[in-house]
Amino acid sequence: MTGVAGAPPMLRRAHIDLGAISANVEHVARSVAPAAVMAVVKADGYGHGAVETARAALEGGATSLGVADVAEGLALRDAGIDAPVLAWLHGAHPVFDEAVAHDITLGISTRGQLAAAIEAGSTGRPARLHLKIDTGLGRNGFERSDWEPAFAEARRGVDEGRILVEGLFSHLSNASDDDDRAQLAAFEEATAAARAAGLEPTVRHLASTAGALRLPEMRLDQVRLGIGQYGLSPYDGVGSAELGLRPALRLETRLISVKRVAAGTGVSYGYTYRPEEDTWLGLVPLGYADGIPRHVSNRGSVWVGGRVRPIVGRVAMDQFVVDLGRERAEVGDRVVLFGDPAEGFPSADDWAEAASTINYEIVTRLGGRVKRVYG
Ligand SMILES: *Cc1c(COP(=O)(O)O)cnc(C)c1O
Repeated sequence: MTGVAGAPPMLRRAHIDLGAISANVEHVARSVAPAAVMAVVKADGYGHGAVETARAALEGGATSLGVADVAEGLALRDAGIDAPVLAWLHGAHPVFDEAVAHDITLGISTRGQLAAAIEAGSTGRPARLHLKIDTGLGRNGFERSDWEPAFAEARRGVDEGRILVEGLFSHLSNASDDDDRAQLAAFEEATAAARAAGLEPTVRHLASTAGALRLPEMRLDQVRLGIGQYGLSPYDGVGSAELGLRPALRLETRLISVKRVAAGTGVSYGYTYRPEEDTWLGLVPLGYADGIPRHVSNRGSVWVGGRVRPIVGRVAMDQFVVDLGRERAEVGDRVVLFGDPAEGFPSADDWAEAASTINYEIVTRLGGRVKRVYG
């Protein structure tokens, strides 16, 4: 046991199956080949742990890693990971010296960022860049009116030996197949404009999990695999198993209290639940501080000792209550909040539905008190 003497080591734990992550990457790599797979491990690997996930993904055949910001990339380097890493989201006035020193590839979306990259690079150590094109999402990326001047500036940076433009990328809206195809067409135009300016990007990428699995023409040289490597589906109404994926994260704990209450007893803040019959209630030691959405109050369910039982009353900061019904359970009985539905557990998809959100948010928002355990 580590930490403060006597502290229970596993009050709340996320069990992460790294073998599932490797297998998910391998499965997607096989279906998108010859396109390469970049494993997206931003936001602490969607709550699964960035370093552990990165290693598992590389083992499964990913050839590079994607993160949102440079600090996330540097953390991978600190852990000794030397695979290519692309970071694409930067602050208002970025300085890229450290990124260049640690060979983090930069996703560049504005002329200010381009100037900063040219400034940070040198002939001995040019900054590696992927230029991001806004093909319609309205977020990051060079707009059409910027293409010509930005590509010309980039060409000067290349000629001076301060940067290498290795890639060109964009991001799909997944609004509809037709919208995605319109973005691909705009991306082809941007590619032509870049080549006309004398740039030679060899890695072109457009698709995240949703586009990569559904639309083969979006795969280009590489796909950016995020949610899929964690074994979750990016599509509404399509589960993991249908995509050949296995959810990697199982959130679990134990009942810390069990009590018998009479019909009509008010449960948790505001008494939003009162059982119709005498019943057993179980107390689960996770709350919204741990990433349990308060919105699942009286809507979600958990697995307790082999049965799926409803969350009743309001979710509090540190705890919530489950109605165990007529069958009593015991303090210490295992509780699985979500995991692989193939094993009978509620899924992150079920939780997303109960919380009116998406599975991405369910896994990514787990709080700092939840201990990650790898297996
Ligand atoms: C987060 C992100 C991804 C991964 O998306 P998934 O839907 O999780 O596969 C890919 N590309 C960019 C630019 C991202 O920000």
